[in-house]
Amino acid sequence: MVDTVSEAQRSYNMSRIRSKNTKPERLIRSVLHRLGYRFTVNGPKNRKLPGKPDIVLPKYRTVVFVHGCFWHGHEGCKDFRLPKSRTDWWRAKIDRNRARDARNLAAVRALGWRALVIWTCEFNTVAKLEALRSSLPARIGLPPEIGEERAVAEEAAPYGKRRAGKR
Ligand SMILES: [Zn+2]
Repeated sequence: MVDTVSEAQRSYNMSRIRSKNTKPERLIRSVLHRLGYRFTVNGPKNRKLPGKPDIVLPKYRTVVFVHGCFWHGHEGCKDFRLPKSRTDWWRAKIDRNRARDARNLAAVRALGWRALVIWTCEFNTVAKLEALRSSLPARIGLPPEIGEERAVAEEAAPYGKRRAGKR
């Protein structure tokens, strides 16, 4: 039974990966959701934090950027190769994207948020997706309030109301 479920899950994941219409952000959202994380994708923080993060986990004060290896110029990645024609133009463009990403990451971190970058090459096979899934709790870390009684109270509060009692 367990094997059947995980097989079904595997083929589901693989079909999501292979589908040309799948947005990588959606796959990551679905992984996070199944891990039990709650997040916003179109909230005020998604719109206002530097770089407009794809995914915001308010409880963890963490944002997640899902970066395509080509457009965001993943250094040393085999999915990032400059096109053979107009190479200089592409290099300049990708360098600008990279510089903007670095500025946004620094700015969002300066505001006291943890910022994760997940590259699309980290989940382009089932095995890599599973490795990514297992690594996410450690990468996201603990909520900043952990250890305080408020953290326990917030856990029980309906989503969206947990900031109400904040000073
Ligand atoms: Zn990459």
